[in-house]
Order: sequence, then C-alpha cells, then structure tokens
Amino acid sequence: MATNDTNSHEEERNFEDFGLDSRILRALSKLSFVKPTLVQSHIIPLALSGKDILARARTGSGKTAAYSLPVIQKILKAKENANYDSSSATRALILVPTRELAEQVTKQVNKMLIYCSKKLKIVNVAGNMPVQLQKPMLAEKPDIIVTTPSKIAAHLESQNLDIRDSLETLVIDEADLILSYGYEEDLQKILSYLPNVYQSFLMSATMTKDVESLKKLILRDPVILNLEEDKDELALLTQYCVRCSEIDKFLLIYVILKLRLIKGKCILFVNDIDRSYRLKLFLEQFSIRSCVLNSELPLNSRYHIVEEFNKGIYDYIIATDENELKGEKDEEYETLENSNSEAISKPASESTKSSRRKRDMEYGVSRGIDFVNVSAVINFDFPTTAKSYIHRIGRTARGDKSGMSLSFVVPKELYGQHKAVSCPTTERDEEIYARVEKQQREKGAVIKPYVFDMKQVEGFRYRMGDALKAVTKAAIKEARQKEVKQEILNSERLKSHFEDNPNDLNFLRHDKVLHPARIRPHMKHIPSYLMPKVAYSSVNEQSETSEVGHVYFRGSSSNKHRKGRKSYGQRQKNDPLKTFSAGKSNRIRKRQKTA
Ligand code: AMP
Repeated sequence: MATNDTNSHEEERNFEDFGLDSRILRALSKLSFVKPTLVQSHIIPLALSGKDILARARTGSGKTAAYSLPVIQKILKAKENANYDSSSATRALILVPTRELAEQVTKQVNKMLIYCSKKLKIVNVAGNMPVQLQKPMLAEKPDIIVTTPSKIAAHLESQNLDIRDSLETLVIDEADLILSYGYEEDLQKILSYLPNVYQSFLMSATMTKDVESLKKLILRDPVILNLEEDKDELALLTQYCVRCSEIDKFLLIYVILKLRLIKGKCILFVNDIDRSYRLKLFLEQFSIRSCVLNSELPLNSRYHIVEEFNKGIYDYIIATDENELKGEKDEEYETLENSNSEAISKPASESTKSSRRKRDMEYGVSRGIDFVNVSAVINFDFPTTAKSYIHRIGRTARGDKSGMSLSFVVPKELYGQHKAVSCPTTERDEEIYARVEKQQREKGAVIKPYVFDMKQVEGFRYRMGDALKAVTKAAIKEARQKEVKQEILNSERLKSHFEDNPNDLNFLRHDKVLHPARIRPHMKHIPSYLMPKVAYSSVNEQSETSEVGHVYFRGSSSNKHRKGRKSYGQRQKNDPLKTFSAGKSNRIRKRQKTA
C-alpha cells in the first residue's frame, strides 16, 4: 500500500497540466476555477493514472471536483473509443450519505458538464420518489448515477439497472458517514452487483474505524492522501464559548442577534426539531427572522433554503443537527457512551418510538452541505459528540474566509433548572466540551471565553422572559405542523411550476412568521435606556480591535450617541460589543476619561 505524504511542497499546478478534455477546461474557466485546490492537484493525476484513492478531504476543499473531473475525463475518453452500442452505459456510481449531498454533488457535476451535456448524462436517484417511478431514469443508462446506498441497492435488487459489465468507477463521498448511518447492509448488496474490476475513490473528512473497514472492503492497493489543510483553517477560525444557564442561552442569543453583535450569516445549531421552532418563535417576537432546517421538511425545500441562504436572502438558519440520532459517536469514548448514555442521548421529544411524523433518515446538515460565506456557527445546543463539533464549526471559515464559532455550554449544576426550556442533551455539555477542548488543544487551537458585561445584558431579561412565555408547547406544535404543511406545498410548487420559471422562486420565502399571535411592536425595537453604554471609537481603533463576525461602533462621538434617543431599530450600527468583548472595555473607558 502506497502512502503519499502530501505535506511536501509540490510545484503549483494548473488544470491544463492534467491533460483534461478541452470541454472540461472551458467549464472550469466558466466556473472561475483558476487553480486546482490542494486536494485536486493531488487526486486528479493519481485518479487519471488509474489508482484507487483514499483521501482525507473535507467539505470546502474542492473534493467534489477532485473526484468528478477524472470521472468525467474517463467517460469522455471511453465514449470516444466505444462503438455505438456500448456508448451508453452507466460507468460511474457516486455514493453519498444524504439526499442533500446527492443534490449538491449532482448540481456541481452538472456545472462541469456544461459543454458536454449532450454526450454525458448524470442522474440523481437519491430523492424521495419511489424506486418504480425512477425506473425510466435508469433505463436510459445514465453515464453517472449519484445516489444514497439504500436507493441504489433497491434499484439493483429490483433489476432496474445492470452495471455488472459497465461500471468503471465507484466513488464514496463522506465515507466516514456511510457506515455510521447504517448503510453497511446496502453497501454489501451493492458490491455483489459490481464487476470484478473497477477503480474506487473514498473521500472522508476523518479517518475513522469505519473508513478503515471500507478501505479493506473496497480499495485495491490504494494511495492514501492525508492532506494537511487544518493549520490554515484554524488560523481563520476564532472559537468562543459561554458557560451559562439554559434560560440565559435565550437571553444571550436575543441580545447577540438583536444588537447584531455578530455580523453576517449565521447557522444556529440545535439538537432537536421542537427546539428549532422554540428558538424561531422566540426570535420572531423580536422581529428577528430565521429559517428552520430539519429532516421533517421536504428535500426540495431543504435544498432551496440552503441555496437561498447561500445567495444571502436569509441571515439566520436554525439547523437541527440530527447526527446523534443516527448513532454518530466519538469512537474513543464509544464504550463509555454505550454504557450510560442511551437514555439521554436522544432528545426526549425525538425518542418516542412511535413518532408519527415522517422523518427523512437520509437528512444531514452539519456534514457535506456547501454553505457559503457563513460568518458564524452558533452552537445554541452544544453537540453530543466532539466529532459533531468539528463538522459544525467546519461550516464557517472556509476557503480563505475567516469565521467564528460561539458555543453555549450549560454547567451540570445548572441543567434542568428551567424545565420548560431544558434540552436533555445539555446534561452532558461539560463532558463533551472537555473532549472538544482537548481535541482542539491537540490541534493547537484555543476556545476563548466570550466575555461580556452581564449587567448590561440583564436589562434585556424582562423582555426575554416575556417572549419566552409566549412560546408555549402548543405554539411550537402548531408552528411545526404549519411549517411542514407550508413546505410540502412549497415543495410541490418547487417541483412543477418553478422548474420552468426559476425566477419565480424568489417569491417563495422560507422564513415566514409562524407564530399566530400578533407581535407586539415594543418588542421589535430596543429603547435607548437598554442600549449598552458604548464609547467613542475611532476608525483606527476599529481596525485594531476588529475580530471576525463582530459589528463595530461607527458613531462619531459618545455624546452624539447619548443624545440620539432613538431606538436601535431606527439607529443603525452602534457597537455594544465594545463593552461586552474581552479586554477592550477597560481601554475604551480610559479613552473616555481622557476625552
Ligand atoms: P467541495 O469541497 O467539493 O464541497 O467544494 C467547495 C466549494 O469550492 C464549491 O462551492 C466549489 O464550487 C468550490 N471549488 C471547487 N474547486 C475549486 C477551485 N479549483 N477553485 C475555486 N473554487 C473551487
């Protein structure tokens, strides 16, 4: 087995150096892919030379193009050499763990096929459509099939497809999730329908025991690429954590979002679906709009929400991270978890066996999905595994962009004090946090405390309490039902009408107000007596103290600020963080005195 130590500095390469078809090169130029990324410059030549590859590659590294460009190149070549009869055949299978990822991969590959779309067809059969209805899509023998393992296993068993003589490449993307999502049986089935010889690529964000098993099962004499990008990533990510009670999470998130202490787009992770609605309804009380994203929503809606978020239409997505429900675990702690966590690892509202709601077990949001330009990831509920923490924070600080993460950790003694807003996973926050901190320390990263002046925040408590009272269990239930109904309708419309009229999609919003109660106007604005006392800040000071994701004070003088007796909703861009953020408040106060 060859191991390629990829940390050595290689000469910079261009896409032209790989001998790719001119139609591919034109498509890359249209996509503005000027240079190959690190994974691409390693994977593409090896793949084109026929090697099996196991690569550690995370979302955002350019892994999709890294494996799909050689696949496309191989197929174009094979088609040129093939006689008419064998020119249409399924030559590549791309397996992914979730429907979202299948949609995303298909879309990305289609962009690379733009100048050869008549020659080469790709289909995605991971959708909800029943196997029998998808049969005609496969009858045409698409060159590339993107799918989840369960879907293609069902097709192969139903003999809707025969790839025994035609398959040349098998790709498994997010390989570390494939077994942990329970696809092992499907995978065994799939392998029994494959030819004896084919080339395989495994892409994985982490090298786990599951990946090791897959490697043994699938790869032949593979090249292993352990690409070290982490150091750069860490430099761009600032990690914060706040220790507070369960109720103070609501208080702080209200203050942080309402005062825009974090600027730009945020993903707020929660650990169960009801909580996503609780948080959405709570924020609605202050006219802070957000979209929820969870496995209950139809795939089309989910995909559309992410697409629009990426375009900048929404600022906040409240995503339910349901990985723990699929059994994702930290391997080194597995035995410990098995022994004591069964009862609490599933959020209470999710663990009822007879859940009547239709849930999509192939949903996944903290992994693989290409969220673009995310300024901050907020772990409103702390993840239940260290692995999940890594994947969540990986949604920000991608490419050469900086980002921040902010995690709420509830100390054990404060867990369960406020039954109405309690989340069962919180009981283990400190235990999981200790693992996360250790893991980050080993990578050379620190998680800083997010320091702020609690006295200033206290003024907002009354409003927070008022808003929280309005978000009753009944309101959550109603909102959840309303949203699912609304999105099923949206989804149907998305499918039919909007396919032909893509511009109309702009009128279809996913962040509609869900709460039936009227929002009281006084909750919308922040009166000036509640505004944290902020100080004069010069332009120079802004750049000196600028940190990722924070809004800085743009007022011209402290006097001016005090005179302006307008509410926050009317006056823009004050920077209360000046007095909240660590280490800066003293300096500012000194400056004020001298002035
Ligand atoms: P992936 O890691 O495959 O999810 O890709 C992450 C993002 O990087 C996608 O939005 C791609 O369009 C983009 N991308 C991939 N390769 C390149 C490249 N060589 N240059 C610029 N952007 C790229």
